[in-house]
Amino acid sequence: DLRDWQSRLREQFPILTAHPDQVYLDSAATSQKPLAVLDAVTKYLTSGNANAGRGTYPWANRTTALIEQAAQRTREFLGDPEPDRSGVHFVSGTTEGLRLIARDWLVGHLRDGDEIIVPAADHSANSLPWHEAAAQLAREGVKVRIREMPYDPARDYDHRLLPSIVTERTRFIAVTHVHHVYGGDMNIHRIRAAAGPDVVICLDAAQSIGHLPVSLTELDVDFLVFSGHKAMALPGTGAIWAANRRGARFAPGGWAGTPNTSGIVSLAAALDWLDEAGTDRIARWTVALAARLTDGLRRLPAYEILGCQRSLAADSPVQQRHGIVTFRHDRIGSNDLGFVLAAEGFMVRADGHCQAEAGEKTTSVRVSVHAYNTTKEIDRLLDLLTRL
Ligand code: PMP
Repeated sequence: DLRDWQSRLREQFPILTAHPDQVYLDSAATSQKPLAVLDAVTKYLTSGNANAGRGTYPWANRTTALIEQAAQRTREFLGDPEPDRSGVHFVSGTTEGLRLIARDWLVGHLRDGDEIIVPAADHSANSLPWHEAAAQLAREGVKVRIREMPYDPARDYDHRLLPSIVTERTRFIAVTHVHHVYGGDMNIHRIRAAAGPDVVICLDAAQSIGHLPVSLTELDVDFLVFSGHKAMALPGTGAIWAANRRGARFAPGGWAGTPNTSGIVSLAAALDWLDEAGTDRIARWTVALAARLTDGLRRLPAYEILGCQRSLAADSPVQQRHGIVTFRHDRIGSNDLGFVLAAEGFMVRADGHCQAEAGEKTTSVRVSVHAYNTTKEIDRLLDLLTRL
């Protein structure tokens, strides 16, 4: 059953077994790494480390092959419907990936009078680059209209309003798969129908890759960007997946510099590990942990939970929190709450969470879990929160 599966899985994280008193609850920032990933990196670095794409000797050739295999592995993991006609580019994380798409692709594809739709209340990594691209074009005399993605009161995108802001000039829509503050699935499979077939859709999948099954066929997007380091791979890893259909070719950097070879090796190993663990099971586990925490917090009147407030019993997918729960205390400031929790061994995030709309003005405490967290950890946290 799920509990047995989970306890076997947790044992695979050396940092967690080495620190039994510490409770890591900041996986939305970066995940811990399983032994299989660490081993893959050690193996690569001790058996054939070299630069990629430029050698005539076996270690260099093998490094090149490992990177190509990692790109293929990424396509497979994402359920790429047309693997021969897509590009995978490794980057340091979602921020860099989205920035590259804005700078190296979007700027070259927009014409005077075009429109783009971008989120205002998601992570600033998925907002600032689009505004910067439009500002750069404006300096060159190309006027691009930016429309804000509409949200509903539960902080899902308002898919009903979307058709009214899509026009014949809409070229590009940027969206997020799972919200990094509210933890809700943003239901982006509905976007394509509202946008029509010709609009390029770019997906920030930073909080979904590794947390739930992801299928490009179902999502029907043109770009997907994620952070490997939030999905069990080493720090400084991530990828852009780009469909080549409709000429959306994209090749920033490519082999222009030395790639993060050990990081890319770790990413391929992390995707293997995630498939083996089962993203469907991980989703069930982290959704259950988040529900346990929200249920507990609802019984404590001092806490306000951010985001969707509807009953968890209802069956709309937005009511599930994918391992992320963010809240405030009515008397204790969020930064203070963060310090109190840290003193007791709980590692949480207490700030404005890089949320484009809210900025740093409104701070809150974010608890984010991954497959390795336990119900006991959530209960210990609730115990402490109850006593404050
Ligand atoms: N988008 C979302 C939704 C995120 O949660 C994050 C991570 N905080 C990012 C983008 C940025 O990712 P990275 O720090 O790996 O560049």
